[in-house]
Amino acid sequence: MPWTEPSLAAVDPEIAHLIRDANALEARTIRLIPSENYASRAVQEATGSVLGNKYSEGYPHKRYYEGQQIVDPVEELARNRMMKLFGAEHCNVQPYSGSPANLAVYFAFLKPGDTVMGLALPAGGHLTHGWGVSITGSYFKSAAYGVRREDQRIDLDEVRKLAKEHQPKLIFCGGTAYARTWDFPAFRSIADEVGAILVADIAHIAGLVAGGAHPSPIGIADVVTTTTHKTLRGPRGGMIMAKKVHAAAIDKAVFPGLQGGPHNHTTAAIAVAAHEALQPSFKTYAHAIVENAKALAAALSERGFSLVTGGTDNHLILADLTPLNVSGKIAARALDRAGLVLNYNSVPFDPRKPFDPSGIRLGTPGATSRGMGTTEMVQIAEWMKRVVTKHDDEANLEAVRREVEAVCAKYPAPGVLVE
Ligand SMILES: *Cc1c(COP(=O)(O)O)cnc(C)c1O
Repeated sequence: MPWTEPSLAAVDPEIAHLIRDANALEARTIRLIPSENYASRAVQEATGSVLGNKYSEGYPHKRYYEGQQIVDPVEELARNRMMKLFGAEHCNVQPYSGSPANLAVYFAFLKPGDTVMGLALPAGGHLTHGWGVSITGSYFKSAAYGVRREDQRIDLDEVRKLAKEHQPKLIFCGGTAYARTWDFPAFRSIADEVGAILVADIAHIAGLVAGGAHPSPIGIADVVTTTTHKTLRGPRGGMIMAKKVHAAAIDKAVFPGLQGGPHNHTTAAIAVAAHEALQPSFKTYAHAIVENAKALAAALSERGFSLVTGGTDNHLILADLTPLNVSGKIAARALDRAGLVLNYNSVPFDPRKPFDPSGIRLGTPGATSRGMGTTEMVQIAEWMKRVVTKHDDEANLEAVRREVEAVCAKYPAPGVLVE
């Protein structure tokens, strides 16, 4: 039976208008933020479903509330599809997002005051890998590793040295602004040398791992955490995969350790995202993300952008704008006005402050979801050059914005409603 209730537009025109505007904005701009993507209409339908009405503390067939006839098979589908996609022995799809997923891992293995090692935030790591302002850096001791000054890559000898010195109980690999492949086997051997649990946080690269465009940590790391909304192109959510020996500890840490009722509408959408990622076209997508990133990096280099590590192996690019005489923030804001949405970002050894750093960070998951290819990547690099070199010339920005809009019209974004 069709809905007889009034629509969102009738009930709350203010929010309905803002959502309509959000669709229009997404349609006419290019999403270049590497942690973002366009979730499909199917994923969004599941996210907006009645499953969000249900409380289901516990796990399938072990719940604390009645009426789980539908929720149990939904969670089992999500879990099983993700285990199939990644080849994992165990999967917990209940974490509310990436940060709570990581917190659950701390709770599963550490006591406050224990030592954790992760990539330092200014070198491209995530807050939750023990950085000071995060709960993970204030309740736990942190020994952060960085990148080499010469090539801005992770120095595994330094990681080993720090691990031996600080004897961490947990070692994180993974980051938010690291453009190179992670050497999971090397981290495994370091973790083994000091008896640490190895956690691979693949939040950024999960879609690449699932599609075979980045090596997988499954079977190497003890625990693998991820978000579901970045390259994986699902709803906003988190997930923990683990070796079977750690399954019970992880599940207990998520519930009842850290969370109450799971977000069942999100769980359903995670199942949909897994179904989409299991299609052969997702492998093509994952490889196209990397191919596009390499093309974009090369085109930016040719135009005078100085790239951290000199290029990329994955979906993201970090550029130091110092040689172009513009700060990351000024460039990012001008690019946004021109319809190219990315973020300002610190670069390793940045002499500037995090709120006004030297670099910008961008990536190709979104543009690739729209079907853009290497030709469009060269076009994006050219637009970026035009914007950055004349960033205070509003007519210049407006001219680029119109060109961006015309290309966007040829590449509609999944899940975005154009009226
Ligand atoms: C995005 C990200 C997270 C956190 O995810 P949220 O959903 O924002 O909490 C954790 N780790 C890494 C490496 C990330 O990139």
